Amino acid sequence: KAKESGKNTVRIFSFAIAEEVLLKFNMEKGLRKALEKEEFELIYQPQYDIETGRIRGVEALLRWNNPFKGHLEPVDFINVAEETGLIIPIGEWVIKKACETAKKWKSEYDFQGMISVNISATQLRNGDIVKAIKDILSETELSPSSLEIEISENTFADCLDETILKMIELKKMGIKISLDNFGKGYSSLGYLRRLPIHVLKIDKSFVEEINPGYQGKKIVSSIISLAQDLDIDVIAEGIETSEQYDYLKKARCGFIQGHFTSKPISEELIGELIKRDLKEKSFPE
Ligand code: C2E
Ligand code: MG
Ligand code: MG
Repeated sequence: KAKESGKNTVRIFSFAIAEEVLLKFNMEKGLRKALEKEEFELIYQPQYDIETGRIRGVEALLRWNNPFKGHLEPVDFINVAEETGLIIPIGEWVIKKACETAKKWKSEYDFQGMISVNISATQLRNGDIVKAIKDILSETELSPSSLEIEISENTFADCLDETILKMIELKKMGIKISLDNFGKGYSSLGYLRRLPIHVLKIDKSFVEEINPGYQGKKIVSSIISLAQDLDIDVIAEGIETSEQYDYLKKARCGFIQGHFTSKPISEELIGELIKRDLKEKSFPE
């Protein structure tokens, strides 16, 4: 009996693996087609200066309008894109599209802020990201000082030296580098000194802790002081409530990003925000 169920388990297990391989294979095919057929899209979320209420920059976030599955978010496909290396051409498409759009906002609405683009570990390690960015900047005629790349903290788990060299080169070009999801994964206090970082983004899991009765909110104010000591800007991500806003303002967090101020929105709607931002501070209303 035991043997029988053992056999069954094996069969179910391999069936599951076969299914997974097939799903991945189909996803990979779909991603290749998506690049060809321009099914990807960027939406944008503003980052606000908490003191002045003005836009400091806009983060580009990737979406996939899949003809069969509808609107997909990065969580649905980014892993396969990374495993297959497709994140490199997809990532280049993202950088180019984001730079073009920022350039458009600049010429149409005199946008003064940054455009932030997420770069994954694979892109930094395996692709020639420095050359790709150089080419895109000269093609789109966007100033390097308007571009910021967001690198997730867990990128630095391995391959540290090589990755840092590339980051230093990007910094020399005048690009800003932001450490995304700070505090979420590995202890990064040592990295903070070694990395050419301009901005640190406090992970939303800490911002969530800013609620009456939670002790975790003290971590947020400690990260803010740490960054101030190191002369690094701080953006708190994932702000959803006015309690969180009040706390961050008191703690002198420089910048905020989250549904409380704006969800990620279309290029056109950001254009409207920028227009308004030039005339009056757009936040708080
Ligand atoms: P991230 O860079 O940390 O981006 C922030 C995520 O939090 C976004 O999810 C955003 O929509 C979401 N968010 C913003 N405000 C709030 C809020 O107030 N509450 C909550 N609960 N969530 C909020 P999204 O767009 O699904 O992206 C998820 C992740 O996928 C990103 O995390 C980033 O790591 C990755 N990603 C997105 N676009 C790209 C891309 O173009 N290239 C690469 N390599 N990765 C990307
Ligand atoms: Mg990000
Ligand atoms: Mg983040």
